[in-house]
Amino acid sequence: MKKPLWIGGENRNALSYAELKNPYNLEYLGDIAIASHEDVLDAISEAEQAKAAMAAMPAFERAEILEKVAGYLKAEKEECARIIAKEAAKPLKAARAEVDRTIITYTFAAHEARRIHGETVPMDAAPGGQGRLAFTIREPLGVIAAITPFNFPMNLVAHKVGPAIAAGNTVVLKPASQTPLSAYKIAEYFHRAGLPKGALNVITGSGRSVGDILMKDERIKMITFTGSPEVGKYIRENSGLKRVTLELGSNSALIVDDAISIEKVIPKIVSGAFAYQGQVCISIQRIFVHENIFDRFVEQFINETQKLKAGDPLEEDTDLSALITRGDNQRTKDWVDEAVRNGAVLKLGGGIKDGIFQPTVLADVPLMEKVSCEEVFAPVVHINRFNHFDEAIEFVNDSKYGLQAGIFTNDIHKALQAAKKLEVGGVMINEIPTFRVDQMPYGGVKMSGMGREGIKYAVEEMTELKLISFKTE
Ligand code: NAP
Repeated sequence: MKKPLWIGGENRNALSYAELKNPYNLEYLGDIAIASHEDVLDAISEAEQAKAAMAAMPAFERAEILEKVAGYLKAEKEECARIIAKEAAKPLKAARAEVDRTIITYTFAAHEARRIHGETVPMDAAPGGQGRLAFTIREPLGVIAAITPFNFPMNLVAHKVGPAIAAGNTVVLKPASQTPLSAYKIAEYFHRAGLPKGALNVITGSGRSVGDILMKDERIKMITFTGSPEVGKYIRENSGLKRVTLELGSNSALIVDDAISIEKVIPKIVSGAFAYQGQVCISIQRIFVHENIFDRFVEQFINETQKLKAGDPLEEDTDLSALITRGDNQRTKDWVDEAVRNGAVLKLGGGIKDGIFQPTVLADVPLMEKVSCEEVFAPVVHINRFNHFDEAIEFVNDSKYGLQAGIFTNDIHKALQAAKKLEVGGVMINEIPTFRVDQMPYGGVKMSGMGREGIKYAVEEMTELKLISFKTE
């Protein structure tokens, strides 16, 4: 199967193609186009030409297109889930859940398209402002470049393409090289839904070479990026005056206070640590448990983790599968081994079986170890103890990242303290940090990024605020 580029509402053959394989069994999935320099420039030109049509399109039409896309996803949910499962090695259960969320994300985008509005401005609140009627409107930016990661190949594309189209922009989408099929599928749906040609273009190829062209081109007004902090920083530093939003990585933490019902929360915490083999930007990586319940917590956590089934992502009962590359197996093993050499206690896992990194639980990890302070992005979690609550807050904040953090406690004062003191984009009280619904504001502080997604908030980032002032006297 050959997958050409999608430029100007048509398939475009590329000069060269790269083989795409299933990360679990290395089964051949297709030949994926590699965009040349000219292809990328053509995609930008098509998006530039479609700008006027999109800016002129009434809100209800943009909303209807987004609703149709949600409808196609609903009708072909199983096919979409299988695409994700194969190209990302995402267990089918999780892939289906991702498609469900993608449907919700496009549905919210349709709702937002209908309610993009400004506000009146009380000009007479300042001396000299009287005798004026003023209001703001929100206008589309124009051409937006969206660069997306492999781990949620449909829903994270939706978090960029959904609000961009809702706001009347055009898009050049560069999906991750490992997960292009989901992106091409979405382009097909938008085409079917009647999106003007050129309003959504999909180009595949090396992130570095495509990215450099997108960053340099003056016609692109914004880059919306989700991916690793290293690439995010590179983009921020090389995009000149373009608007840039960055959704980056994390080493998310959870605090478990004493006097909570462990039995109730453990299954949820295990799922937050190991779902999609820990390759979620808000996977639980660090757990800080009150010393009074530490031993009981570790024991029950291990029992629950042992119930997980590793295997083929296409099997119905698989909970976790292969990491995105074989190289990630070795990297993860090296980090775990290093932590153990330096005093961490290996409680479970730590090795690779049938190409799958086994769910791994470490205890009492020195916090300067890579498995604690870097983003592991693999099924590895560490459980450390704390004595005083303030100490737990300090442990969580002692990180270069700050995406989301969670806390389980029955003490309202501690909950409020956590809300105030945790240095993250979102504090989840009596919930795991991995919790997300698609309309909430979502994004990080520190090296976890800048800007917010969640359709309404992304629409704000993807529009320009314009003031109109009428002199009435
Ligand atoms: P990645 O390696 O940074 O790649 C992300 C995207 O950037 C891919 O499309 C990639 O293309 C492209 N890219 C690579 N180098 C580039 C460059 N120099 N210039 C422009 N684009 C470039 O990240 P990943 O491994 O796919 O995803 C995992 C990371 O994403 C983790 O750090 C995770 O935490 C983060 N993430 C964050 C969120 C969030 O919302 N905060 C959500 C999901 C994931 P190629 O594939 O062709 O290299």
